[in-house]
Amino acid sequence: MRQGIAWLARQWFAWTLPRLATSTTAERDRLRKAHLLSIGVLAAVVLGLPLLVSQIAAHDWLAIADLLVFEGVHCTAAILNRRGRVSLGSWVYIIGYMTTAVWGLLIISPSEGYTMLWGWVQLLLPSIFAGLFLPFWTPLLFGLLDGLLVIVISRTAPAAVVLARLPAQVQLSFFIYVYVMMGAVSIICTVSSYSVERAVAEADRTQELAAAHAALELAHADLAHAYAKLEELATIDPITGLLNHRAMTARLATEVARVHRTGTPLAVIFADLDHFKHVNDTWGHHVGDHVLAHLAHLLRDHVRAVDIVARYGGEEFVLILPDHDHAQGVRAAERLRRLVAETPLVFAETVQLDVTISIGVAVFPADGAEIDDVLIAADAAMYRAKHGGRNRVCSTHDDTASAAA
Ligand code: GH3
Ligand code: MG
Ligand code: MG
Repeated sequence: MRQGIAWLARQWFAWTLPRLATSTTAERDRLRKAHLLSIGVLAAVVLGLPLLVSQIAAHDWLAIADLLVFEGVHCTAAILNRRGRVSLGSWVYIIGYMTTAVWGLLIISPSEGYTMLWGWVQLLLPSIFAGLFLPFWTPLLFGLLDGLLVIVISRTAPAAVVLARLPAQVQLSFFIYVYVMMGAVSIICTVSSYSVERAVAEADRTQELAAAHAALELAHADLAHAYAKLEELATIDPITGLLNHRAMTARLATEVARVHRTGTPLAVIFADLDHFKHVNDTWGHHVGDHVLAHLAHLLRDHVRAVDIVARYGGEEFVLILPDHDHAQGVRAAERLRRLVAETPLVFAETVQLDVTISIGVAVFPADGAEIDDVLIAADAAMYRAKHGGRNRVCSTHDDTASAAA
Protein backbone atom coordinates (compact mmCIF):
# COMPACT_ATOMS: atom_id res chain seq x y z
CA MET A 1 0.00 0.00 0.00
CA ARG A 2 2.76 2.42 1.08
CA GLN A 3 4.82 1.39 -1.93
CA GLY A 4 1.83 1.98 -4.16
CA ILE A 5 1.35 5.51 -2.76
CA ALA A 6 5.07 6.25 -3.16
CA TRP A 7 4.90 5.00 -6.76
CA LEU A 8 1.87 7.18 -7.48
CA ALA A 9 3.59 10.23 -5.93
CA ARG A 10 6.68 9.60 -8.08
CA GLN A 11 4.51 9.32 -11.18
CA TRP A 12 2.71 12.52 -10.27
CA PHE A 13 5.97 14.47 -9.84
CA ALA A 14 7.43 12.96 -13.01
CA TRP A 15 4.37 14.20 -14.86
CA THR A 16 3.97 17.65 -13.30
CA LEU A 17 7.55 18.80 -12.62
CA PRO A 18 9.47 20.81 -15.25
CA ARG A 19 13.10 20.17 -16.17
CA LEU A 20 14.89 23.15 -14.71
CA ALA A 21 18.55 24.04 -14.33
CA THR A 22 19.63 24.11 -10.66
CA SER A 23 23.05 25.72 -10.75
CA THR A 24 22.04 28.92 -8.94
CA THR A 25 20.05 29.41 -5.76
CA ALA A 26 17.41 31.34 -7.74
CA GLU A 27 16.97 28.36 -10.08
CA ARG A 28 16.79 25.94 -7.15
CA ASP A 29 14.17 28.24 -5.55
CA ARG A 30 12.16 28.08 -8.78
CA LEU A 31 12.29 24.28 -8.72
CA ARG A 32 11.21 24.34 -5.06
CA LYS A 33 8.20 26.46 -6.07
CA ALA A 34 7.46 24.02 -8.89
CA HIS A 35 7.47 21.17 -6.31
CA LEU A 36 5.13 23.13 -4.03
CA LEU A 37 2.76 23.86 -6.88
CA SER A 38 2.80 20.21 -7.88
CA ILE A 39 1.94 19.17 -4.30
CA GLY A 40 -0.71 21.92 -4.10
CA VAL A 41 -2.44 20.73 -7.24
CA LEU A 42 -2.33 17.10 -6.06
CA ALA A 43 -3.85 18.06 -2.70
CA ALA A 44 -6.58 20.15 -4.37
CA VAL A 45 -7.51 17.39 -6.84
CA VAL A 46 -7.49 14.60 -4.21
CA LEU A 47 -9.47 16.66 -1.64
CA GLY A 48 -11.97 17.77 -4.27
CA LEU A 49 -12.84 14.23 -5.45
CA PRO A 50 -14.91 13.01 -2.41
CA LEU A 51 -16.71 16.36 -2.41
CA LEU A 52 -17.51 15.88 -6.10
CA VAL A 53 -18.86 12.38 -5.42
CA SER A 54 -21.10 13.61 -2.58
CA GLN A 55 -22.37 16.52 -4.68
CA ILE A 56 -23.15 14.20 -7.59
CA ALA A 57 -25.12 12.03 -5.14
CA ALA A 58 -27.00 15.16 -3.96
CA HIS A 59 -27.63 16.32 -7.56
CA ASP A 60 -26.25 19.75 -6.61
CA TRP A 61 -25.44 20.78 -10.19
CA LEU A 62 -24.19 24.29 -9.45
CA ALA A 63 -21.77 22.98 -6.81
CA ILE A 64 -20.69 20.21 -9.20
CA ALA A 65 -19.98 22.79 -11.91
CA ASP A 66 -18.05 24.85 -9.36
CA LEU A 67 -15.94 21.82 -8.39
CA LEU A 68 -15.30 20.82 -12.02
CA VAL A 69 -14.08 24.37 -12.77
CA PHE A 70 -11.93 24.15 -9.62
CA GLU A 71 -10.35 20.84 -10.71
CA GLY A 72 -9.92 22.07 -14.32
CA VAL A 73 -8.16 25.23 -13.23
CA HIS A 74 -5.79 23.21 -11.06
CA CYS A 75 -5.00 20.78 -13.87
CA THR A 76 -4.20 23.80 -16.09
CA ALA A 77 -1.81 25.00 -13.37
CA ALA A 78 -0.15 21.56 -13.36
CA ILE A 79 0.27 21.64 -17.17
CA LEU A 80 1.82 25.13 -17.03
CA ASN A 81 4.11 23.91 -14.24
CA ARG A 82 5.23 20.94 -16.35
CA ARG A 83 6.08 23.32 -19.21
CA GLY A 84 8.33 25.38 -16.93
CA ARG A 85 5.81 28.26 -16.60
CA VAL A 86 5.93 27.93 -12.82
CA SER A 87 5.01 31.55 -12.12
CA LEU A 88 2.03 31.63 -14.52
CA GLY A 89 0.86 28.25 -13.18
CA SER A 90 0.98 29.71 -9.66
CA TRP A 91 -1.14 32.72 -10.67
CA VAL A 92 -3.71 30.37 -12.25
CA TYR A 93 -3.67 28.12 -9.16
CA ILE A 94 -4.26 31.02 -6.74
CA ILE A 95 -6.81 32.87 -8.86
CA GLY A 96 -8.57 29.51 -9.29
CA TYR A 97 -8.92 29.28 -5.51
CA MET A 98 -10.23 32.81 -5.34
CA THR A 99 -12.84 32.50 -8.07
CA THR A 100 -14.17 29.14 -6.87
CA ALA A 101 -14.38 30.50 -3.32
CA VAL A 102 -16.37 33.49 -4.61
CA TRP A 103 -18.54 31.23 -6.76
CA GLY A 104 -19.16 29.02 -3.76
CA LEU A 105 -20.19 32.02 -1.68
CA LEU A 106 -22.48 33.43 -4.38
CA ILE A 107 -24.34 30.21 -5.16
CA ILE A 108 -24.53 28.87 -1.65
CA SER A 109 -27.98 28.27 -0.30
CA PRO A 110 -28.95 30.86 2.36
CA SER A 111 -29.78 28.00 4.68
CA GLU A 112 -26.18 26.83 4.79
CA GLY A 113 -24.86 29.67 6.91
CA TYR A 114 -21.98 27.67 8.37
CA THR A 115 -20.68 26.59 4.93
CA MET A 116 -20.84 30.19 3.82
CA LEU A 117 -18.60 31.33 6.71
CA TRP A 118 -16.24 28.53 5.82
CA GLY A 119 -16.10 29.85 2.23
CA TRP A 120 -15.10 33.24 3.56
CA VAL A 121 -12.22 31.73 5.53
CA GLN A 122 -11.15 30.06 2.26
CA LEU A 123 -10.47 33.56 0.91
CA LEU A 124 -7.41 33.65 3.19
CA LEU A 125 -5.72 30.99 1.06
CA PRO A 126 -4.71 33.24 -1.91
CA SER A 127 -2.55 35.44 0.35
CA ILE A 128 -0.88 32.40 1.92
CA PHE A 129 -0.20 30.68 -1.42
CA ALA A 130 1.00 33.93 -3.03
CA GLY A 131 3.61 34.17 -0.27
CA LEU A 132 4.85 30.68 -1.20
CA PHE A 133 4.78 30.90 -5.00
CA LEU A 134 4.79 34.50 -6.24
CA PRO A 135 6.74 37.77 -5.77
CA PHE A 136 6.79 39.09 -2.22
CA TRP A 137 4.25 41.89 -2.81
CA THR A 138 1.49 39.55 -4.07
CA PRO A 139 0.13 38.48 -0.60
CA LEU A 140 -0.74 42.16 0.01
CA LEU A 141 -2.38 42.40 -3.44
CA PHE A 142 -4.52 39.30 -2.81
CA GLY A 143 -5.33 40.48 0.74
CA LEU A 144 -6.62 43.74 -0.72
CA LEU A 145 -8.62 42.00 -3.47
CA ASP A 146 -10.14 39.56 -0.98
CA GLY A 147 -11.04 42.46 1.33
CA LEU A 148 -12.99 44.06 -1.53
CA LEU A 149 -14.59 40.73 -2.45
CA VAL A 150 -15.82 40.28 1.14
CA ILE A 151 -17.67 43.64 0.86
CA VAL A 152 -19.16 42.70 -2.56
CA ILE A 153 -20.20 39.22 -1.42
CA SER A 154 -21.74 40.46 1.81
CA ARG A 155 -24.05 42.70 -0.24
CA THR A 156 -25.17 40.07 -2.77
CA ALA A 157 -28.36 38.11 -2.28
CA PRO A 158 -27.46 34.74 -0.61
CA ALA A 159 -24.83 36.19 1.69
CA ALA A 160 -26.91 39.27 2.52
CA VAL A 161 -29.78 36.96 3.53
CA VAL A 162 -27.53 34.86 5.77
CA LEU A 163 -25.97 37.95 7.33
CA ALA A 164 -29.38 39.52 7.94
CA ARG A 165 -30.23 36.56 10.17
CA LEU A 166 -27.26 37.24 12.43
CA PRO A 167 -27.42 39.83 15.25
CA ALA A 168 -25.56 43.11 14.47
CA GLN A 169 -23.04 42.34 17.23
CA VAL A 170 -22.12 38.98 15.68
CA GLN A 171 -21.91 40.52 12.20
CA LEU A 172 -19.47 43.16 13.43
CA SER A 173 -17.22 40.71 15.25
CA PHE A 174 -17.34 38.38 12.22
CA PHE A 175 -16.12 41.13 9.85
CA ILE A 176 -13.51 42.34 12.31
CA TYR A 177 -12.29 38.74 12.57
CA VAL A 178 -12.20 38.28 8.77
CA TYR A 179 -10.33 41.56 8.13
CA VAL A 180 -7.86 41.14 10.99
CA MET A 181 -7.10 37.62 9.75
CA MET A 182 -6.68 38.80 6.14
CA GLY A 183 -4.46 41.72 7.18
CA ALA A 184 -2.30 39.55 9.44
CA VAL A 185 -1.95 36.76 6.89
CA SER A 186 -1.10 39.23 4.08
CA ILE A 187 1.52 41.07 6.13
CA ILE A 188 3.14 37.92 7.56
CA CYS A 189 3.27 36.26 4.13
CA THR A 190 4.68 39.40 2.50
CA VAL A 191 7.41 39.79 5.12
CA SER A 192 8.39 36.12 5.02
CA SER A 193 8.34 36.03 1.20
CA TYR A 194 10.47 39.18 1.08
CA SER A 195 13.09 37.70 3.40
CA VAL A 196 13.20 34.46 1.34
CA GLU A 197 13.66 36.48 -1.88
CA ARG A 198 16.48 38.49 -0.32
CA ALA A 199 18.19 35.38 1.07
CA VAL A 200 18.04 33.77 -2.39
CA ALA A 201 19.47 36.90 -4.06
CA GLU A 202 22.22 37.19 -1.43
CA ALA A 203 23.12 33.50 -1.77
CA ASP A 204 23.53 33.94 -5.53
CA ARG A 205 25.48 37.15 -5.04
CA THR A 206 27.81 35.31 -2.66
CA GLN A 207 28.18 32.51 -5.19
CA GLU A 208 28.91 35.03 -7.97
CA LEU A 209 31.43 36.82 -5.77
CA ALA A 210 33.15 33.53 -4.90
CA ALA A 211 33.32 32.63 -8.62
CA ALA A 212 34.66 36.10 -9.48
CA HIS A 213 37.19 35.80 -6.67
CA ALA A 214 38.36 32.38 -7.92
CA ALA A 215 38.65 33.75 -11.49
CA LEU A 216 40.64 36.69 -10.16
CA GLU A 217 42.99 34.40 -8.26
CA LEU A 218 43.48 32.32 -11.40
CA ALA A 219 44.21 35.45 -13.44
CA HIS A 220 46.58 36.59 -10.72
CA ALA A 221 48.45 33.26 -10.82
CA ASP A 222 48.63 33.49 -14.63
CA LEU A 223 49.93 37.02 -14.35
CA ALA A 224 52.54 36.03 -11.75
CA HIS A 225 53.61 33.15 -14.01
CA ALA A 226 53.80 35.45 -17.04
CA TYR A 227 55.75 38.00 -15.03
CA ALA A 228 58.23 35.34 -13.84
CA LYS A 229 58.60 34.15 -17.44
CA LEU A 230 59.13 37.71 -18.62
CA GLU A 231 61.71 38.33 -15.94
CA GLU A 232 63.49 35.13 -16.93
CA LEU A 233 63.47 36.19 -20.59
CA ALA A 234 64.83 39.59 -19.62
CA THR A 235 67.62 38.29 -17.38
CA ILE A 236 68.62 34.81 -18.56
CA ASP A 237 70.58 34.03 -21.70
CA PRO A 238 68.65 31.28 -23.54
CA ILE A 239 71.66 29.41 -24.97
CA THR A 240 73.74 29.11 -21.80
CA GLY A 241 71.15 29.61 -19.04
CA LEU A 242 73.52 32.16 -17.48
CA LEU A 243 72.72 35.74 -16.52
CA ASN A 244 72.82 38.05 -19.52
CA HIS A 245 74.77 41.30 -19.71
CA ARG A 246 71.90 43.39 -18.33
CA ALA A 247 71.30 41.13 -15.32
CA MET A 248 75.04 40.94 -14.66
CA THR A 249 75.27 44.75 -14.52
CA ALA A 250 72.47 44.82 -11.95
CA ARG A 251 74.12 42.11 -9.78
CA LEU A 252 77.45 43.84 -10.11
CA ALA A 253 75.98 47.03 -8.61
CA THR A 254 74.93 45.02 -5.52
CA GLU A 255 78.40 43.46 -5.23
CA VAL A 256 80.10 46.86 -5.57
CA ALA A 257 77.90 48.18 -2.74
CA ARG A 258 78.98 45.20 -0.63
CA VAL A 259 82.67 45.95 -1.35
CA HIS A 260 82.14 49.55 -0.21
CA ARG A 261 80.37 48.30 2.91
CA THR A 262 82.77 45.50 3.91
CA GLY A 263 86.05 46.65 2.36
CA THR A 264 86.75 43.16 0.95
CA PRO A 265 87.99 43.03 -2.69
CA LEU A 266 86.19 41.55 -5.68
CA ALA A 267 87.86 39.70 -8.54
CA VAL A 268 86.59 40.12 -12.10
CA ILE A 269 87.41 37.35 -14.59
CA PHE A 270 86.99 38.02 -18.30
CA ALA A 271 87.06 34.77 -20.35
CA ASP A 272 86.92 34.46 -24.15
CA LEU A 273 86.70 31.25 -26.19
CA ASP A 274 89.75 30.68 -28.38
CA HIS A 275 89.23 30.38 -32.12
CA PHE A 276 85.50 30.04 -31.70
CA LYS A 277 84.83 31.34 -35.19
CA HIS A 278 86.75 28.32 -36.46
CA VAL A 279 84.39 26.00 -34.52
CA ASN A 280 81.38 27.66 -36.13
CA ASP A 281 82.97 27.60 -39.57
CA THR A 282 83.97 23.93 -39.26
CA TRP A 283 81.01 22.36 -37.43
CA GLY A 284 78.27 24.89 -37.88
CA HIS A 285 76.61 27.34 -35.49
CA HIS A 286 74.56 24.55 -33.95
CA VAL A 287 77.72 22.93 -32.56
CA GLY A 288 79.01 26.43 -31.69
CA ASP A 289 75.95 26.85 -29.46
CA HIS A 290 76.71 23.50 -27.83
CA VAL A 291 80.23 24.69 -27.07
CA LEU A 292 78.85 27.85 -25.44
CA ALA A 293 76.46 25.79 -23.26
CA HIS A 294 79.23 23.30 -22.42
CA LEU A 295 81.54 26.09 -21.27
CA ALA A 296 78.73 27.76 -19.31
CA HIS A 297 78.03 24.53 -17.37
CA LEU A 298 81.70 23.97 -16.65
CA LEU A 299 82.10 27.48 -15.27
CA ARG A 300 78.84 27.47 -13.30
CA ASP A 301 79.49 24.05 -11.75
CA HIS A 302 83.00 24.91 -10.59
CA VAL A 303 82.53 28.19 -8.75
CA ARG A 304 80.86 28.97 -5.43
CA ALA A 305 77.17 29.75 -5.13
CA VAL A 306 78.00 33.36 -4.25
CA ASP A 307 80.03 33.81 -7.43
CA ILE A 308 78.32 35.36 -10.44
CA VAL A 309 78.74 33.81 -13.89
CA ALA A 310 77.36 35.75 -16.86
CA ARG A 311 77.48 35.68 -20.61
CA TYR A 312 78.91 39.07 -21.41
CA GLY A 313 78.26 38.77 -25.15
CA GLY A 314 79.18 36.51 -28.12
CA GLU A 315 81.70 33.98 -26.78
CA GLU A 316 82.78 36.13 -23.85
CA PHE A 317 81.99 35.33 -20.24
CA VAL A 318 82.45 37.35 -17.05
CA LEU A 319 82.83 35.88 -13.57
CA ILE A 320 82.52 37.98 -10.42
CA LEU A 321 84.18 36.43 -7.38
CA PRO A 322 83.37 38.27 -4.12
CA ASP A 323 85.99 38.23 -1.32
CA HIS A 324 88.79 37.48 -3.81
CA ASP A 325 91.97 39.51 -3.98
CA HIS A 326 94.33 39.51 -6.91
CA ALA A 327 96.20 36.28 -6.13
CA GLN A 328 92.97 34.39 -5.30
CA GLY A 329 91.34 35.66 -8.50
CA VAL A 330 94.27 34.50 -10.64
CA ARG A 331 94.27 31.11 -8.88
CA ALA A 332 90.58 30.62 -9.55
CA ALA A 333 91.03 31.73 -13.19
CA GLU A 334 93.90 29.31 -13.71
CA ARG A 335 91.88 26.47 -12.18
CA LEU A 336 89.00 27.21 -14.57
CA ARG A 337 91.28 27.59 -17.60
CA ARG A 338 92.81 24.17 -16.92
CA LEU A 339 89.40 22.60 -16.28
CA VAL A 340 88.09 23.84 -19.65
CA ALA A 341 91.21 22.75 -21.51
CA GLU A 342 91.05 19.28 -19.91
CA THR A 343 87.32 18.77 -20.51
CA PRO A 344 86.72 18.31 -24.23
CA LEU A 345 83.21 18.50 -25.64
CA VAL A 346 82.07 15.19 -27.10
CA PHE A 347 79.24 15.34 -29.60
CA ALA A 348 77.72 13.10 -32.25
CA GLU A 349 79.06 10.29 -30.01
CA THR A 350 82.46 10.19 -31.69
CA VAL A 351 83.63 13.76 -32.25
CA GLN A 352 85.79 15.23 -29.52
CA LEU A 353 86.27 18.99 -29.56
CA ASP A 354 89.05 20.56 -27.53
CA VAL A 355 87.98 23.91 -26.13
CA THR A 356 90.25 26.52 -24.59
CA ILE A 357 89.72 29.94 -23.14
CA SER A 358 91.88 33.01 -22.65
CA ILE A 359 91.35 34.83 -19.37
CA GLY A 360 92.02 38.32 -18.03
CA VAL A 361 91.82 39.06 -14.30
CA ALA A 362 91.37 42.41 -12.54
CA VAL A 363 90.35 43.35 -9.00
CA PHE A 364 87.97 45.96 -7.66
CA PRO A 365 88.83 48.46 -6.25
CA ALA A 366 92.58 47.88 -6.70
CA ASP A 367 92.47 48.20 -10.52
CA GLY A 368 89.94 51.04 -10.83
CA ALA A 369 87.78 53.35 -8.73
CA GLU A 370 84.76 52.45 -10.89
CA ILE A 371 83.71 48.86 -11.65
CA ASP A 372 83.57 49.71 -15.38
CA ASP A 373 87.29 50.58 -15.27
CA VAL A 374 87.96 47.19 -13.67
CA LEU A 375 85.99 45.40 -16.41
CA ILE A 376 88.01 47.28 -19.05
CA ALA A 377 91.22 46.30 -17.26
CA ALA A 378 90.17 42.63 -17.16
CA ASP A 379 89.24 42.79 -20.87
CA ALA A 380 92.62 44.30 -21.67
CA ALA A 381 94.35 41.55 -19.66
CA MET A 382 92.32 38.96 -21.62
CA TYR A 383 93.60 40.47 -24.91
CA ARG A 384 97.13 40.20 -23.60
CA ALA A 385 96.44 36.51 -22.98
CA LYS A 386 95.26 36.20 -26.60
CA HIS A 387 98.33 37.93 -27.91
CA GLY A 388 100.47 35.81 -25.62
CA GLY A 389 99.30 32.66 -27.42
CA ARG A 390 95.76 32.00 -26.03
CA ASN A 391 94.71 29.31 -23.48
CA ARG A 392 96.29 31.33 -20.69
CA VAL A 393 95.54 33.70 -17.83
CA CYS A 394 96.79 37.27 -17.73
CA SER A 395 96.13 39.75 -15.00
CA THR A 396 96.63 43.42 -14.35
CA HIS A 397 99.87 42.33 -12.60
CA ASP A 398 101.94 41.03 -15.48
CA ASP A 399 104.22 38.98 -13.30
CA THR A 400 101.31 36.72 -12.24
CA ALA A 401 100.46 35.72 -15.81
CA SER A 402 100.19 31.97 -16.36
CA ALA A 403 99.99 29.97 -19.54
CA ALA A 404 99.25 26.53 -20.81
CA ALA A 405 102.05 24.09 -20.66
P1 GH3 B 1 89.74 34.56 -30.72
O1 GH3 B 1 90.48 33.34 -30.29
O2 GH3 B 1 90.62 35.62 -31.18
O3 GH3 B 1 88.78 35.00 -29.73
O4 GH3 B 1 88.97 34.09 -32.03
P2 GH3 B 1 87.48 33.87 -32.15
O5 GH3 B 1 87.20 33.14 -33.42
O6 GH3 B 1 86.99 33.16 -30.92
O7 GH3 B 1 86.91 35.30 -32.13
P3 GH3 B 1 86.06 36.12 -33.17
O8 GH3 B 1 85.71 37.40 -32.49
O9 GH3 B 1 86.79 36.20 -34.45
O10 GH3 B 1 84.78 35.28 -33.41
C1 GH3 B 1 83.78 35.12 -32.47
C2 GH3 B 1 82.69 34.28 -33.07
O11 GH3 B 1 81.72 33.96 -32.13
C3 GH3 B 1 82.00 34.97 -34.21
C4 GH3 B 1 80.55 34.73 -33.98
O12 GH3 B 1 79.89 34.20 -35.10
C5 GH3 B 1 80.54 33.71 -32.87
N1 GH3 B 1 79.38 33.83 -32.03
C6 GH3 B 1 78.99 34.90 -31.30
N2 GH3 B 1 77.84 34.60 -30.66
C7 GH3 B 1 77.50 33.34 -31.01
C8 GH3 B 1 76.42 32.46 -30.67
O13 GH3 B 1 75.51 32.81 -29.92
N3 GH3 B 1 76.41 31.21 -31.20
C9 GH3 B 1 77.41 30.80 -32.05
N4 GH3 B 1 77.36 29.55 -32.54
N5 GH3 B 1 78.42 31.60 -32.39
C10 GH3 B 1 78.49 32.84 -31.89
MG1 MG C 1 87.08 34.27 -29.09
MG1 MG D 1 85.48 37.57 -28.48
